[in-house]
Amino acid sequence: MSIAENIQAIRQRMAAAAAAAGRDPKEIWLVGASKMNDADACREAIAAGIDALGENRVQEMLGKYAEGAYEGAPLHFIGHLQRNKVRQVVGKVSLIHSVSSLPLLEEIDHQAEKLGLVQEILLEVNIGGEESKSGFAPEEIFSAAERAKELPHVAMEGLMTIPPVEQVPHGNLPYFQEVYRLFVDISRKLYDNKLKYLSMGMSDDFEDAIAAGATMVRVGSAIFGARNYNG
Ligand SMILES: *Cc1c(COP(=O)(O)O)cnc(C)c1O
Repeated sequence: MSIAENIQAIRQRMAAAAAAAGRDPKEIWLVGASKMNDADACREAIAAGIDALGENRVQEMLGKYAEGAYEGAPLHFIGHLQRNKVRQVVGKVSLIHSVSSLPLLEEIDHQAEKLGLVQEILLEVNIGGEESKSGFAPEEIFSAAERAKELPHVAMEGLMTIPPVEQVPHGNLPYFQEVYRLFVDISRKLYDNKLKYLSMGMSDDFEDAIAAGATMVRVGSAIFGARNYNG
């Protein structure tokens, strides 16, 4: 299957999941997680109508950016971001999904101020409470959103989560539902019900994420094929 055929198949599954939940599929973004795929693969996904591409590693993103890999689609940063690399990301991407700490949030504000722009961001929730994952604990997320609201050079647009690896089919549905509840609560209490994006769901569980209210799914291997970590 080609990248274009994979995207078409995923769009159909997204539409079915949205219909089953009584939702409009047009309100759900398909973000291609293009890590470890080259500029040509990115271009193929853009030509096939992907809504955005999301990268995880700053160096890889900068290399592909210089090659023009992302022309024609919004570029997002979805991976773990170190504070000392913020400078290289702010202003290049239209959305940073993975803001996982207050120092990182404040550094993004600082770098965006220097460039005279407002960086759109999401706050990452570590919904499974895993040591190995970054993100705010569910009980910290509301105060993180309050802090984000005070910063003039970040625009907080919603939440993102990466739940634990599923042990049984639909095992992550309760996590997605919990993050949806946090999203709705923050949106209602701080943003006049206007928060835009809830980024959750990957190749193996995006339909459950849509059932729970995701407005962005981040899909990698189901679009680009299995990643070869042995290079
Ligand atoms: C790689 C990645 C994805 C996509 O994972 P797949 O299982 O390949 O669909 C989504 N989100 C993030 C943050 C990722 O790093």
